[in-house]
Amino acid sequence: MSDHLAGGYDLVIFDLDGVVFLIDRPIPGAAEAIDQLRSGATPIAFATNNASRRAADVAALLTGMGVNAEPAEVLTSAGAAAALLAERLPAGAPVLVVGAEALRAEVRDAGLTPVDSAEDEPVAVVQGYGPEVGWKILAEAVVAVRAGATWFATNTDRTLPSPRGPLPGNGSLVAVLRTALDRDPDVVVGKPQPGLFRTAAAQSRAERPLTVGDRLDTDIQGAVTAGMDSLLVLTGVSGPADLLTAPEDRRPTYVAADMSGLFRPADEARLPVTGGGGPGDEIGGWRLTRNADGVELDGSGTPVDALRLLCGVTWTGVPVTAITAGSTDARELLASWNLPEQH
Ligand SMILES: [Mg+2]
Repeated sequence: MSDHLAGGYDLVIFDLDGVVFLIDRPIPGAAEAIDQLRSGATPIAFATNNASRRAADVAALLTGMGVNAEPAEVLTSAGAAAALLAERLPAGAPVLVVGAEALRAEVRDAGLTPVDSAEDEPVAVVQGYGPEVGWKILAEAVVAVRAGATWFATNTDRTLPSPRGPLPGNGSLVAVLRTALDRDPDVVVGKPQPGLFRTAAAQSRAERPLTVGDRLDTDIQGAVTAGMDSLLVLTGVSGPADLLTAPEDRRPTYVAADMSGLFRPADEARLPVTGGGGPGDEIGGWRLTRNADGVELDGSGTPVDALRLLCGVTWTGVPVTAITAGSTDARELLASWNLPEQH
């Protein structure tokens, strides 16, 4: 086993937005990290909740950004939903598709019949994000589900990242049906459900996969549910304050500023550093001391080391508001995380 983090795993599964790219631009260092894994013969997979592109389109998009990717390495929630539908329904069964053309194509390729009206008596409704989804098809879905069709959602992400800020994601469109029908979908396919990760592991026959993600509530929770180790990279949605206050089922195995953490020793990213926060807890120039009111961080070092040290106390019950700063560097760091500071 190699001594760098990724060397301990036989598959690395990447989330896309916030990890490999940000909306339409590659994240610096991501392409190099993926090439480095390939040159070390570590299998790679990409797992995305976005159901508006097919695997080949995602691979082409990545390759266009300078990130080498094969269609067979890409798992989308659209592909996973179609596979699940095909498993549960007889061949040729009519399925009402609420979503993008990519989802419709996946359903067709899975041997089912995509339809767009409740009059076609669909046995299932599959709902994924599509920019053209409007009232008419949502109304058909309501009629079909009320008539007994099983309701599948590819994912329930409330928002989608965009250059104009977060925009309504599939979860927001699922909420339309949820409101109209006063019930939840029968099946949700994407993260934080473990299906995408488990399929990726099965396809690679991986016994020790690592997932890499930027969101605690989808990627990391999905990894925890799948029983896989996970690395949170701080290049996307979840930040230090989210990590410090993460509930148990959303806590990653490791944290790193970015993907370069994959190639440093695992012990430089492992969480939490200690469970104690006792006197003398030190790492990379930071020092943590318990006092009557909570804990004091002092010294200096990298932000990630301070975060790992502090997770050791906040994950065992010390509230974030009980963290105080004992040095200028600590004060500036805590302020940059937008934590409530106690004086
Ligand atoms: Mg992401």
